[in-house]
Amino acid sequence: MTDALRELKARLAEVDDLGRAARVLGWDQQTMMPPGGAPARADQLATLGRIAHERFTAPELGRLLDRLRAHEEFLAPDSDDACLIRVTRRDYEKAVRVPAELRAEMLRAASLGHQAWVEARAASNFPAFLPHLERNVELALRYIECFEPAGEPYDVLLDDYEEGATTADVRAVFEPLKEGLLPLVAAVSERGGDPGPLRGPFPADAQRRLIDTVLTRLGFDPASWRLDVAAHPFATTFAVADIRLTTRYDEDDLRALFGAMHEFGHGLYERSVSPALERTPLAGGVSLGLHESQSRLWENLVGRGRAFCRWLHPVARAAFPDALRGVDEEAFYRAINRVVPSLIRVDADEVTYCLHVILRFELELEIVNGGLELRDLPEAWNARMLDYLGVEVPDDAHGVLQDVHWSGGTFGYFPTYALGTVMSVQIWEAARRSLPDLDAQLEAGQFDELREWLRAGLHVHGRKFAPQQMLERLVGGPIDAGPYLGYLAGKLDELYAPA
Ligand code: ZN
Repeated sequence: MTDALRELKARLAEVDDLGRAARVLGWDQQTMMPPGGAPARADQLATLGRIAHERFTAPELGRLLDRLRAHEEFLAPDSDDACLIRVTRRDYEKAVRVPAELRAEMLRAASLGHQAWVEARAASNFPAFLPHLERNVELALRYIECFEPAGEPYDVLLDDYEEGATTADVRAVFEPLKEGLLPLVAAVSERGGDPGPLRGPFPADAQRRLIDTVLTRLGFDPASWRLDVAAHPFATTFAVADIRLTTRYDEDDLRALFGAMHEFGHGLYERSVSPALERTPLAGGVSLGLHESQSRLWENLVGRGRAFCRWLHPVARAAFPDALRGVDEEAFYRAINRVVPSLIRVDADEVTYCLHVILRFELELEIVNGGLELRDLPEAWNARMLDYLGVEVPDDAHGVLQDVHWSGGTFGYFPTYALGTVMSVQIWEAARRSLPDLDAQLEAGQFDELREWLRAGLHVHGRKFAPQQMLERLVGGPIDAGPYLGYLAGKLDELYAPA
């Protein structure tokens, strides 16, 4: 290894350590910290964030990257070192374009916006949140101006979450998706929403035991994983061998189980990254979309699939002998797959979910392109909810204020949820082609081969390859809404067939 490469790695390891330490603080804030710690925690996180940014954008790092240009030509393009230099250069060139003052202002506005959003949502008071939203949008537009004019301004925002994806690319996936989903949702709505047999009560301690049983089976090992409770469930990673998941229990339903399987999918991705990439910018998921493909795969393709349900049903009945008395496997399967248009994205079923995301993408585009006044946002939101999902929004807490993202200025993030959902089915179909025996394995509660297929094909590479390249390697083609729509149509036919 050259001296320059050795020094680059040492500097990147420090930046990574600072980022992981910030994650520990963030995780603690959401799982353990008493509310009194909030102001000090905001300062601590801002300090760590600033130091990490300063270290990463230091001119010396740029000089090291320059010195490595000659060395790079001798490296195999797919080698860890070549990928590390390439990805670091890309991250560096983006990071140095943003003035430290703007970066700090964005962090500050996000922190203030978050607090204002929590209060505004609790009171369903959009006007109280509006000035913060205006500030965040203004800063996002200034951020866009830091970069060369792109095809569309929104491209700059998207690229932070889904490298290389343009607004036009997203539109090319979302247009057929929307066209395919609207009639499916309309057909489902006509059939009415039978609440099904999953009414509970499902005591939280029994849910916790069931989740432990299921996750252990999937690959959760207490030597490297923890599960805690958080108001807004998430997964985070402190190291390849230190994975943190969170969930939240509601005694009326089994959402926590599927939520935990979702977060497990995120955790497994990070757990299976090659240890050789640790303490570098490559140690993580390649994009938010591909990360979400993994959580959705475990939550829906495995979790709500027929084969796994055969294994899960007796296990769940043993966990809840009263609530599930007399609920046979078919009724259980239909209940965990119930489709009902509803108000809240995070609670949406597989069929309606992407419409919630498409709605946000369309509104974000109009905001960034200047076609929508922010004060008119609730009205635009409510009109689209009625149009796409046939749902009347009773108040802004259940409408435009429901999600955290805009309070923190994260515009361009939402599309990755639907892109990940679409890719999850493409990846699932590729896995099935490689593992013809997969259904029998899932039915027997065996997940080793699926885990290994995902590890070797996707997880182990971390951020070495660009998202589109990674998907191509894994499924043999670009992102395509077709398989997802086909999967949903097949599932609905099955669910609504006479029992
Ligand atoms: Zn997720």
